[in-house]
Amino acid sequence: MRSAANVAVIGSGISGAVCASMLASKGVSVTVFESGRGPGGRMSSRRENLEDGKELYFDHGAPYFTVNHQEVAGVVRSWEARGFVAEWKEKFGSFDRNTGEFLDLDKEGTTTKYVGVPGMNSICKALCLEPGVEARFGVTVGKMDWLHDRSSWSLTGLGGQDLGHFDGVVASDKNISSSRFTGVTGRPPPLDVALFPELSMMSQDIPVHPCFALMLAFSEPLTSVPIKGFSFKNSEVLSWAFCDSSKPGRRCLPDNSESWTLHSTAEYAARVIAESGLRKPSNDALAKVAEELFQEFQGSVYNVPRPYFMKAHRWGSAFPAVAIGVEDKCLWDKNTKLAICGDFCTSPNIEGAILSGIRAASKILGSLNILSGM
Ligand SMILES: Cc1cc2nc3c(=O)[nH]c(=O)nc-3n(C[C@H](O)[C@H](O)[C@H](O)COP(=O)(O)OP(=O)(O)OC[C@H]3O[C@@H](n4cnc5c(N)ncnc54)[C@H](O)[C@@H]3O)c2cc1C
Repeated sequence: MRSAANVAVIGSGISGAVCASMLASKGVSVTVFESGRGPGGRMSSRRENLEDGKELYFDHGAPYFTVNHQEVAGVVRSWEARGFVAEWKEKFGSFDRNTGEFLDLDKEGTTTKYVGVPGMNSICKALCLEPGVEARFGVTVGKMDWLHDRSSWSLTGLGGQDLGHFDGVVASDKNISSSRFTGVTGRPPPLDVALFPELSMMSQDIPVHPCFALMLAFSEPLTSVPIKGFSFKNSEVLSWAFCDSSKPGRRCLPDNSESWTLHSTAEYAARVIAESGLRKPSNDALAKVAEELFQEFQGSVYNVPRPYFMKAHRWGSAFPAVAIGVEDKCLWDKNTKLAICGDFCTSPNIEGAILSGIRAASKILGSLNILSGM
């Protein structure tokens, strides 16, 4: 069957993956380019191989998500029916570092919490495997050129390789036009927004809140902790803790193990990054952060033993601090069929990113005169 058009989606986080799957379901031929080794972006999952051959899995990015918007709820229900999303039924609460007490044990447990199954990245993985979507991992788009004479986009990889020509492009990362891209890669950003007046919102760097995630595996369950997810009150270092292994459909852990992921506060992460810079942190720097976060956990929560596995991960841009596409939920340049989507266009969470991806797909489909209903 001849495809309606040929569209590139840059990024396989949830906004890009949702957009790609929606376009492909309407007959558009979609190529997803993703810098990372696999799909998911900030919804990634991590496999750690231990020396004894055992494997551990962590959701080291977003641990779960909630849904309020009707349009997103419909999409999530369809994923639940297909088996790669499930409800995480555990109760959440908070922990006061000053008193050492767990609080609000019921209050934070009332909203339905969803997770990907068997990992948070399963959703993006499934969407990138849909018919009509070709996903290319480990490929960073280094340059995007609009060719007036051909009315198409030409994409080039970071290493200079030709990635092809496309009728439209969806870029799902705020760094596509920002100096942050340059700060990390040492190269100019892929898109020169000065050439696209409709995208003037992208001409300034979007402020972000960073976060460190600490992955922990204990040889026995943490019996002194009465809940499987809690926020910290009165800690300058830790913000949240989640028991990964209590999520539905997780792969079995060795023996009686329990795995947890802790999140630092944005202030702690910003302080560390100000000292060490934007470039990828060294293993030594990450080991130091891991020890500091764990000390805070062990020093505040009663009776936490030493874990047999512990590793930190840095999220330099965990959460956008502002939303720039509020009305349309994405940015759109109709002359060049260029959509920009992601949580930074809506709200700093998975629901916001899903909504933005849906709206970006609708813009592209509208420009091709294809109805966008899912
Ligand atoms: C530690 C942490 C905790 C969180 N907690 C929650 C939570 O509890 N609930 C919740 O709802 N949300 C949470 N979030 C936020 C949530 O993860 C994000 O809002 C959502 O995943 C953003 O999706 P996205 O598609 O907009 O962006 P991303 O997931 O960032 O996807 C962008 C993708 O584009 C790729 N990319 C960028 N530039 C290029 C390029 N030039 N070429 C190729 N590929 C490129 C990147 O590699 C990335 O995969 C959390 C995030 C973090 C990091």
